[in-house]
Amino acid sequence: MSAVILDGKALAAKVKERVAREAAKLSRRPGLTVILVGENPASQVYVRNKVQDCSDCGIACFDYHLPADTPEEELLQLLTELNGRADVDGILCQLPLPDHIREKRVLETISPDKDVDAFHLYNMGRILRGDARFLPCTPAGVMELLHAYDISPAGKHCVVVGRSNIVGKPMGLLLLQENGTVTICHSRTPDLKEQCLQADILVSAVGREGLITADMIRPGAVVVDVAMNRNAAGKLCGDVDFAAACERASYITPVPGGVGPMTRAMLMENTLTAAKARQ
Ligand code: NAP
Repeated sequence: MSAVILDGKALAAKVKERVAREAAKLSRRPGLTVILVGENPASQVYVRNKVQDCSDCGIACFDYHLPADTPEEELLQLLTELNGRADVDGILCQLPLPDHIREKRVLETISPDKDVDAFHLYNMGRILRGDARFLPCTPAGVMELLHAYDISPAGKHCVVVGRSNIVGKPMGLLLLQENGTVTICHSRTPDLKEQCLQADILVSAVGREGLITADMIRPGAVVVDVAMNRNAAGKLCGDVDFAAACERASYITPVPGGVGPMTRAMLMENTLTAAKARQ
Protein backbone atom coordinates (compact mmCIF):
# COMPACT_ATOMS: atom_id res chain seq x y z
CA MET A 1 0.00 0.00 0.00
CA SER A 2 1.25 3.47 -0.77
CA ALA A 3 -0.45 6.35 1.00
CA VAL A 4 -2.19 9.24 -0.73
CA ILE A 5 -0.27 12.43 -0.08
CA LEU A 6 -2.27 15.19 1.61
CA ASP A 7 -1.01 18.05 -0.51
CA GLY A 8 -0.99 21.08 1.78
CA LYS A 9 0.93 23.18 -0.68
CA ALA A 10 -1.69 22.87 -3.42
CA LEU A 11 -4.61 23.34 -1.03
CA ALA A 12 -2.98 26.36 0.61
CA ALA A 13 -2.60 28.00 -2.80
CA LYS A 14 -6.35 27.52 -3.37
CA VAL A 15 -7.21 28.94 0.07
CA LYS A 16 -5.02 31.96 -0.59
CA GLU A 17 -6.67 32.53 -3.99
CA ARG A 18 -10.07 32.44 -2.28
CA VAL A 19 -8.89 34.90 0.38
CA ALA A 20 -7.50 37.24 -2.31
CA ARG A 21 -10.83 37.16 -4.20
CA GLU A 22 -12.81 37.89 -1.03
CA ALA A 23 -10.39 40.57 0.16
CA ALA A 24 -10.70 42.39 -3.17
CA LYS A 25 -14.47 42.71 -2.63
CA LEU A 26 -14.12 44.60 0.67
CA SER A 27 -14.41 48.37 0.79
CA ARG A 28 -11.03 48.61 2.51
CA ARG A 29 -7.96 46.41 2.15
CA PRO A 30 -7.59 44.08 5.15
CA GLY A 31 -4.51 44.85 7.24
CA LEU A 32 -2.27 42.53 9.26
CA THR A 33 0.43 43.67 11.67
CA VAL A 34 3.31 41.27 12.25
CA ILE A 35 5.67 42.08 15.12
CA LEU A 36 9.05 40.46 15.50
CA VAL A 37 11.11 41.15 18.61
CA GLY A 38 14.77 40.17 18.31
CA GLU A 39 16.74 38.21 15.75
CA ASN A 40 15.56 34.58 16.06
CA PRO A 41 16.48 33.20 12.59
CA ALA A 42 13.49 30.83 12.34
CA SER A 43 11.14 33.66 13.35
CA GLN A 44 12.68 35.90 10.70
CA VAL A 45 11.83 33.30 8.04
CA TYR A 46 8.26 32.93 9.36
CA VAL A 47 7.77 36.70 9.31
CA ARG A 48 9.14 37.00 5.76
CA ASN A 49 6.71 34.28 4.66
CA LYS A 50 3.80 36.11 6.29
CA VAL A 51 4.73 39.34 4.53
CA GLN A 52 4.81 37.42 1.22
CA ASP A 53 1.45 35.73 1.92
CA CYS A 54 -0.15 39.12 2.64
CA SER A 55 1.17 40.45 -0.62
CA ASP A 56 -0.22 37.39 -2.49
CA CYS A 57 -3.64 37.87 -0.88
CA GLY A 58 -4.02 41.64 -1.28
CA ILE A 59 -3.69 42.17 2.48
CA ALA A 60 -1.75 45.21 3.71
CA CYS A 61 1.09 44.07 5.94
CA PHE A 62 2.50 46.31 8.67
CA ASP A 63 5.77 44.75 9.63
CA TYR A 64 7.48 45.84 12.90
CA HIS A 65 10.95 44.62 13.73
CA LEU A 66 11.90 45.60 17.29
CA PRO A 67 15.29 45.12 18.96
CA ALA A 68 15.70 42.15 21.31
CA ASP A 69 16.05 44.46 24.33
CA THR A 70 12.73 46.24 23.73
CA PRO A 71 11.13 46.79 27.17
CA GLU A 72 7.91 44.85 27.75
CA GLU A 73 5.99 48.06 28.43
CA GLU A 74 7.04 49.49 25.06
CA LEU A 75 5.72 46.40 23.26
CA LEU A 76 2.46 46.53 25.21
CA GLN A 77 2.08 50.20 24.33
CA LEU A 78 2.57 49.43 20.63
CA LEU A 79 -0.07 46.69 20.85
CA THR A 80 -2.52 49.08 22.51
CA GLU A 81 -1.94 51.60 19.72
CA LEU A 82 -2.48 48.92 17.07
CA ASN A 83 -5.68 47.76 18.82
CA GLY A 84 -7.06 51.23 18.16
CA ARG A 85 -5.93 51.60 14.57
CA ALA A 86 -8.73 51.44 11.99
CA ASP A 87 -6.54 50.05 9.20
CA VAL A 88 -5.27 47.11 11.31
CA ASP A 89 -7.57 44.06 11.35
CA GLY A 90 -5.15 41.47 12.68
CA ILE A 91 -2.22 41.63 15.10
CA LEU A 92 0.34 38.91 15.45
CA CYS A 93 3.36 38.89 17.72
CA GLN A 94 5.82 36.27 16.54
CA LEU A 95 6.72 33.76 19.27
CA PRO A 96 8.98 33.00 21.03
CA LEU A 97 9.59 36.36 22.68
CA PRO A 98 12.83 37.31 24.48
CA ASP A 99 12.92 36.02 28.09
CA HIS A 100 12.31 39.41 29.73
CA ILE A 101 8.94 39.80 27.99
CA ARG A 102 6.03 37.91 29.54
CA GLU A 103 4.27 36.09 26.72
CA LYS A 104 0.95 35.88 28.57
CA ARG A 105 0.82 39.66 29.09
CA VAL A 106 1.51 40.22 25.41
CA LEU A 107 -1.13 37.76 24.25
CA GLU A 108 -3.74 39.21 26.64
CA THR A 109 -3.04 42.76 25.42
CA ILE A 110 -3.92 42.02 21.81
CA SER A 111 -7.59 42.81 21.26
CA PRO A 112 -9.57 39.53 20.94
CA ASP A 113 -11.16 41.04 17.79
CA LYS A 114 -7.73 41.31 16.15
CA ASP A 115 -6.25 38.12 17.62
CA VAL A 116 -5.75 36.26 14.34
CA ASP A 117 -3.51 33.66 16.01
CA ALA A 118 -6.37 32.87 18.45
CA PHE A 119 -3.99 32.76 21.42
CA HIS A 120 -5.92 35.23 23.61
CA LEU A 121 -7.62 33.64 26.63
CA TYR A 122 -11.01 34.85 25.38
CA ASN A 123 -10.56 33.18 22.00
CA MET A 124 -9.15 30.02 23.61
CA GLY A 125 -12.26 29.91 25.78
CA ARG A 126 -14.46 30.20 22.73
CA ILE A 127 -12.62 27.29 21.10
CA LEU A 128 -13.24 25.22 24.23
CA ARG A 129 -16.91 26.23 24.17
CA GLY A 130 -17.16 25.28 20.50
CA ASP A 131 -18.08 28.66 18.98
CA ALA A 132 -14.73 30.10 17.97
CA ARG A 133 -14.45 33.20 15.79
CA PHE A 134 -10.81 32.49 14.98
CA LEU A 135 -9.26 29.05 15.04
CA PRO A 136 -5.55 28.68 15.76
CA CYS A 137 -3.88 28.47 12.37
CA THR A 138 -2.11 25.12 12.60
CA PRO A 139 -4.99 22.96 13.90
CA ALA A 140 -7.37 24.85 11.59
CA GLY A 141 -5.06 24.07 8.67
CA VAL A 142 -5.08 20.38 9.57
CA MET A 143 -8.90 20.34 9.68
CA GLU A 144 -9.11 22.13 6.32
CA LEU A 145 -6.77 19.54 4.83
CA LEU A 146 -8.83 16.64 6.22
CA HIS A 147 -12.04 18.21 4.88
CA ALA A 148 -10.51 18.72 1.44
CA TYR A 149 -9.83 14.99 1.20
CA ASP A 150 -13.25 14.04 2.65
CA ILE A 151 -11.70 12.61 5.78
CA SER A 152 -14.13 12.97 8.65
CA PRO A 153 -13.06 12.47 12.27
CA ALA A 154 -16.64 11.49 13.16
CA GLY A 155 -16.68 8.14 14.90
CA LYS A 156 -12.93 7.74 14.46
CA HIS A 157 -10.29 7.32 17.12
CA CYS A 158 -8.01 10.34 16.82
CA VAL A 159 -4.67 10.31 18.61
CA VAL A 160 -2.81 13.61 18.97
CA VAL A 161 0.80 13.45 20.12
CA GLY A 162 1.75 16.74 21.82
CA ARG A 163 -0.28 18.93 24.16
CA SER A 164 0.95 22.46 23.56
CA ASN A 165 -1.52 25.34 23.79
CA ILE A 166 -0.91 26.32 20.19
CA VAL A 167 -1.09 22.92 18.50
CA GLY A 168 -1.82 19.75 20.51
CA LYS A 169 -4.64 20.89 22.80
CA PRO A 170 -6.65 22.89 20.23
CA MET A 171 -6.06 20.10 17.69
CA GLY A 172 -7.69 17.64 20.09
CA LEU A 173 -10.61 20.02 20.65
CA LEU A 174 -11.27 20.53 16.93
CA LEU A 175 -11.23 16.78 16.30
CA LEU A 176 -13.56 16.29 19.28
CA GLN A 177 -15.89 18.97 17.97
CA GLU A 178 -16.19 17.02 14.74
CA ASN A 179 -17.13 13.94 16.73
CA GLY A 180 -13.82 12.17 16.86
CA THR A 181 -12.93 10.18 19.98
CA VAL A 182 -9.73 11.86 21.04
CA THR A 183 -6.65 10.75 22.95
CA ILE A 184 -3.93 13.32 23.62
CA CYS A 185 -0.44 11.95 24.33
CA HIS A 186 2.58 13.79 25.73
CA SER A 187 6.05 13.20 27.13
CA ARG A 188 4.68 11.36 30.20
CA THR A 189 2.53 8.97 28.19
CA PRO A 190 4.09 5.61 29.07
CA ASP A 191 2.85 3.56 26.13
CA LEU A 192 3.05 5.88 23.13
CA LYS A 193 3.29 3.07 20.57
CA GLU A 194 0.22 1.32 21.96
CA GLN A 195 -1.75 4.59 21.91
CA CYS A 196 -0.69 5.44 18.36
CA LEU A 197 -1.64 1.98 17.13
CA GLN A 198 -5.25 2.74 18.19
CA ALA A 199 -5.42 5.73 15.87
CA ASP A 200 -7.59 5.98 12.79
CA ILE A 201 -6.28 9.53 12.56
CA LEU A 202 -2.83 10.16 14.04
CA VAL A 203 -1.57 13.73 14.43
CA SER A 204 1.99 14.20 15.62
CA ALA A 205 3.05 17.61 16.94
CA VAL A 206 6.15 17.02 19.01
CA GLY A 207 9.26 18.22 17.22
CA ARG A 208 11.39 15.09 17.37
CA GLU A 209 12.69 13.50 14.19
CA GLY A 210 11.96 9.76 13.96
CA LEU A 211 9.56 9.69 16.94
CA ILE A 212 6.78 8.03 14.97
CA THR A 213 8.01 4.88 13.26
CA ALA A 214 5.97 2.79 10.82
CA ASP A 215 5.30 0.09 13.42
CA MET A 216 3.38 2.68 15.49
CA ILE A 217 0.92 3.28 12.66
CA ARG A 218 -2.21 1.21 12.32
CA PRO A 219 -2.51 -0.05 8.72
CA GLY A 220 -4.81 2.31 6.82
CA ALA A 221 -4.56 5.17 9.31
CA VAL A 222 -4.50 8.83 8.30
CA VAL A 223 -1.20 10.36 9.42
CA VAL A 224 -0.74 14.11 9.88
CA ASP A 225 2.74 15.32 10.71
CA VAL A 226 2.72 18.83 12.14
CA ALA A 227 6.34 18.94 13.24
CA MET A 228 9.09 20.92 11.58
CA ASN A 229 12.50 19.60 12.50
CA ARG A 230 15.91 19.87 10.89
CA ASN A 231 17.67 16.55 10.33
CA ALA A 232 21.44 16.01 10.54
CA ALA A 233 21.78 17.17 6.92
CA GLY A 234 19.89 20.38 7.76
CA LYS A 235 16.82 19.30 5.77
CA LEU A 236 13.31 20.00 7.01
CA CYS A 237 11.56 16.87 8.34
CA GLY A 238 8.70 15.93 10.62
CA ASP A 239 8.22 13.49 13.52
CA VAL A 240 7.14 10.64 11.27
CA ASP A 241 9.43 8.25 9.44
CA PHE A 242 7.81 9.31 6.18
CA ALA A 243 9.03 6.72 3.64
CA ALA A 244 8.17 3.72 5.83
CA ALA A 245 4.92 5.32 7.04
CA CYS A 246 3.74 5.68 3.42
CA GLU A 247 3.60 1.89 3.27
CA ARG A 248 1.20 1.69 6.26
CA ALA A 249 -0.94 4.83 6.10
CA SER A 250 -3.90 5.49 3.80
CA TYR A 251 -3.22 9.25 3.73
CA ILE A 252 -0.19 11.15 4.94
CA THR A 253 1.12 14.72 5.00
CA PRO A 254 4.64 15.35 3.74
CA VAL A 255 7.11 17.66 5.49
CA PRO A 256 7.61 20.14 3.92
CA GLY A 257 4.47 20.70 1.85
CA GLY A 258 1.82 19.45 4.28
CA VAL A 259 0.68 21.33 7.37
CA GLY A 260 3.17 24.22 7.10
CA PRO A 261 1.63 25.91 4.04
CA MET A 262 -1.85 25.34 5.48
CA THR A 263 -0.90 27.16 8.68
CA ARG A 264 0.22 30.13 6.62
CA ALA A 265 -2.97 30.10 4.55
CA MET A 266 -5.19 29.97 7.63
CA LEU A 267 -3.56 33.12 8.98
CA MET A 268 -4.66 34.88 5.80
CA GLU A 269 -8.15 33.42 6.23
CA ASN A 270 -8.31 34.65 9.84
CA THR A 271 -7.20 38.12 8.79
CA LEU A 272 -9.95 38.20 6.19
CA THR A 273 -12.48 37.05 8.81
CA ALA A 274 -11.33 39.83 11.17
CA ALA A 275 -11.55 42.43 8.41
CA LYS A 276 -15.06 41.33 7.40
CA ALA A 277 -16.26 41.45 11.01
CA ARG A 278 -14.84 44.96 11.48
CA GLN A 279 -16.13 46.42 8.20
P1 NAP B 1 6.01 22.23 22.10
O1 NAP B 1 5.32 23.37 22.73
O2 NAP B 1 7.45 21.99 22.34
O3 NAP B 1 5.20 20.90 22.50
C1 NAP B 1 5.70 19.64 22.19
C2 NAP B 1 4.80 18.60 22.81
O4 NAP B 1 5.36 17.32 22.52
C3 NAP B 1 4.68 18.70 24.33
O5 NAP B 1 3.34 18.58 24.71
C4 NAP B 1 5.50 17.52 24.83
O6 NAP B 1 5.00 16.93 26.00
C5 NAP B 1 5.36 16.54 23.71
N1 NAP B 1 6.45 15.58 23.69
C6 NAP B 1 7.77 15.82 23.80
N2 NAP B 1 8.48 14.66 23.74
C7 NAP B 1 7.57 13.68 23.60
C8 NAP B 1 7.66 12.28 23.49
N3 NAP B 1 8.84 11.65 23.49
N4 NAP B 1 6.53 11.57 23.36
C9 NAP B 1 5.33 12.19 23.33
N5 NAP B 1 5.17 13.52 23.42
C10 NAP B 1 6.29 14.25 23.57
O7 NAP B 1 5.87 22.28 20.52
P2 NAP B 1 4.72 22.91 19.59
O8 NAP B 1 4.85 24.37 19.56
O9 NAP B 1 3.40 22.29 19.89
O10 NAP B 1 5.22 22.36 18.18
C11 NAP B 1 5.35 20.97 17.95
C12 NAP B 1 6.02 20.76 16.60
O11 NAP B 1 5.21 21.32 15.58
C13 NAP B 1 7.38 21.45 16.44
O12 NAP B 1 8.18 20.66 15.59
C14 NAP B 1 7.04 22.75 15.76
O13 NAP B 1 8.14 23.25 15.00
C15 NAP B 1 5.94 22.29 14.84
N6 NAP B 1 5.01 23.32 14.45
C16 NAP B 1 4.68 23.34 13.14
C17 NAP B 1 3.78 24.24 12.67
C18 NAP B 1 3.41 24.20 11.23
O14 NAP B 1 2.88 25.16 10.72
N7 NAP B 1 3.66 23.08 10.56
C19 NAP B 1 3.20 25.17 13.54
C20 NAP B 1 3.52 25.12 14.89
C21 NAP B 1 4.42 24.17 15.33
P3 NAP B 1 4.99 17.69 27.45
O15 NAP B 1 3.84 18.63 27.37
O16 NAP B 1 4.78 16.58 28.40
O17 NAP B 1 6.31 18.38 27.57
